[in-house]
Amino acid sequence: MKTIAAVPYYDLREQYAALRAEILEAIDRTCRNAAFSLGDEVASFEQEFASYCEAKHCIALNSGTSALHLALLAAGVGSGDEVITTPNTFIATAEAIAYTGAKIVFADIDPRTANLDPRLAESAITPRTKAILPVHLYGRPVDMQAFQKLADAHKLSLIEDAAQAHGARFRGRRVGALGICGAFSFYPSKNLGAYGEAGALVTNDDRIAHYCRSARSHGELRRYFHDFIGYNYRMEGFQGAVLRIKLRHLDVWSARRKAISQRYREKLDGLALRLPHDDPRDDCAYHLFVIYVENRDAVQAELKNWGIGTAVHYPLPLHLQKALAYLGYKPGDFPHAERACQQVLALPLFPELTTEQVDYVCESLHEIIGRS
Ligand SMILES: *Cc1c(COP(=O)(O)O)cnc(C)c1O
Repeated sequence: MKTIAAVPYYDLREQYAALRAEILEAIDRTCRNAAFSLGDEVASFEQEFASYCEAKHCIALNSGTSALHLALLAAGVGSGDEVITTPNTFIATAEAIAYTGAKIVFADIDPRTANLDPRLAESAITPRTKAILPVHLYGRPVDMQAFQKLADAHKLSLIEDAAQAHGARFRGRRVGALGICGAFSFYPSKNLGAYGEAGALVTNDDRIAHYCRSARSHGELRRYFHDFIGYNYRMEGFQGAVLRIKLRHLDVWSARRKAISQRYREKLDGLALRLPHDDPRDDCAYHLFVIYVENRDAVQAELKNWGIGTAVHYPLPLHLQKALAYLGYKPGDFPHAERACQQVLALPLFPELTTEQVDYVCESLHEIIGRS
């Protein structure tokens, strides 16, 4: 084994160092204005992020999970309804469905993209299906055209989980507000990350925007007049201030993520591993760069010996999680998702990663895996 400098899976410190003066000034400004919850910075961020997403409205919230919850409520989803989603995602996607009282219904993924397969989703539709919630996993857009067709044919609400896909484009259009509405997360490690918890919902629908603005703040639009039982899902003032600064860099960061991903693709070509398929008509947000390998745990352990950080998103598909055992699914129900979870390995990917570090990861994989 060679002696090397470590390559972290991700590291947010360098980015902070570059933006430190600007961010400290913005936080100080927020404090001086005592705008700690919502406020002017958040309102400006809403406008700027809506415009970034090519959407009419953005409603700033305290997390991506809250955004998913409000999106489903805005679609009228409640108990007695079913919502179809992918088992190959972070649990928040399914939790939000459960919060509404609706039943979570899974359909398997397309193994080439790891995203929900529209044809399999179609076969999961019943008379109780109310909405369909695909996830742009790792920033890779789902086939929105196919899902929109399904939604139209069966009168379903199409909601996007865009928590990993800030700025991604499906056939030239930004994801998020392509269906009735979409949820973004600004969890610190996402492509656009706050300095704490934050999220947002985007939509072109005035009625949904109006409902969500009220629902995030205890069902009120006017202070202390409550039209319905709502939530405290407001974004903190600080987060709006930080996100405004970071949003200005997002396209540059995304371009760097793409360049790193392309270098990985070139340098890993010919190795005994599989890479997800990118549709050349779409723009991936490259949240994660994942490979699929047969003996994943061994490869991960070996990379660790080389000083390289990796992660598994996700080790267990949702239909086999203990929390969702009540749904009655069993191993073998979604073989593509199960295989993806056994084989997936995310390599280091963040804008500050150097080309030398990327090459070192690739050289290590050449040594560890060998040619197919
Ligand atoms: C991060 C994430 C969420 C949840 O967002 P939070 O801001 O952490 O609540 C939901 N769905 C997916 C696919 C995610 O990656």
